[in-house]
Amino acid sequence: MDELEAIVKSEAGLRDLLESIDDLVAFATLEGRLLYVNRAWREKLGYTEGEVAGLSSYDIIHPSQQSEVEATNAKLMASEQVVRVERLLVAKDGRQIPVDGSLSCRFKDGKPWYVRAIFHDITARKAAERMKDDLVSMASHELRNPLMAIRTALHLLNEELVPTKLERPVQVVGLAMRNCDRMVDLIKAYLDLANLEAGARLKESEVDVSGFIDRIVELNQPLGLHAGVDIRHESTPGAKVLGDEDRLAQVLTNLLSNAIKFSKPGGSVQVRSEFRDGHVRVTVSDQGDGIPESFRAKIFGKFAQAEGHARGGSGLGLAISKAIVEKHGGRIGFETALGQGTTFYFELPKLG
Ligand code: ADP
Repeated sequence: MDELEAIVKSEAGLRDLLESIDDLVAFATLEGRLLYVNRAWREKLGYTEGEVAGLSSYDIIHPSQQSEVEATNAKLMASEQVVRVERLLVAKDGRQIPVDGSLSCRFKDGKPWYVRAIFHDITARKAAERMKDDLVSMASHELRNPLMAIRTALHLLNEELVPTKLERPVQVVGLAMRNCDRMVDLIKAYLDLANLEAGARLKESEVDVSGFIDRIVELNQPLGLHAGVDIRHESTPGAKVLGDEDRLAQVLTNLLSNAIKFSKPGGSVQVRSEFRDGHVRVTVSDQGDGIPESFRAKIFGKFAQAEGHARGGSGLGLAISKAIVEKHGGRIGFETALGQGTTFYFELPKLG
């Protein structure tokens, strides 16, 4: 046993700790010869203690990563800093195990001495990431394209059928059309959120909040009229923020359409803006039923709709709104009282 191995193998307590953890720990010489690996390492990679003795760390790293390994080694030998890496390990039976973790080199008398590695199995995370990528690509191609075609066909059929007044076919096509529209909206919203989460950039410019509210309210008047809901607005002149106007329009439109959707006919919705602690706050208040207590904590989650309280929609609107507002460095929230109504607000740092 050489001096290095003796040090590594002493201290029974620490050894016991290393043997009991789930992360993969290894000590190796500068050439890569494995000196010690813990239980999690042996179990994950399928080697016995005896077999490890003859192994090099190069034997368990996927060949595609050799050049990366060499670059990391050069970095490791340069100083005692910890280097974070992602690696693909190969078990004895050929299984590939993605891991992330840290490597560091110990020095003796100013010279590199031996290397330590602590790895964490990220198979589950990688699988989830792959699934999400697959879902996004499926939603944007395989699902979206045929749906768009079906929707167009249904709309055409509907136009031709309506004048015939054949009640049953008109109803059936209408039902298919509405569900198709719903799925198209859902996919659009899902892709939009995936895009935001993946770091979509904002196209920021100076936004005059008062003019902005005027425009969005104007655009949503027909929706209010249709639902028998009066939309009123008043805003603070001179309020300006830095923002992506299209994205902010998406937020206000969502809050406004929810407020209309959850209002009773004859009710009114009020949009306001005000200054508040260096921010501009935009509020949308309705006189609807309010949000049930049990649902409040989940409301900004994905696909969240209050039970027995969903009125169409994807359940993604508020999740998207939150992502947009937070990307702007702002905050979104609400106050609600059962039977009296709800006020949603978002606030952004004030300009000037
Ligand atoms: P959806 O597309 O379903 O409206 P949102 O994320 O915009 O998705 O809203 C999620 C849920 O939050 C709604 O389905 C509803 O249950 C609740 N909600 C949103 N706004 C209001 C409101 N103004 N009053 C009452 N409930 C609301």
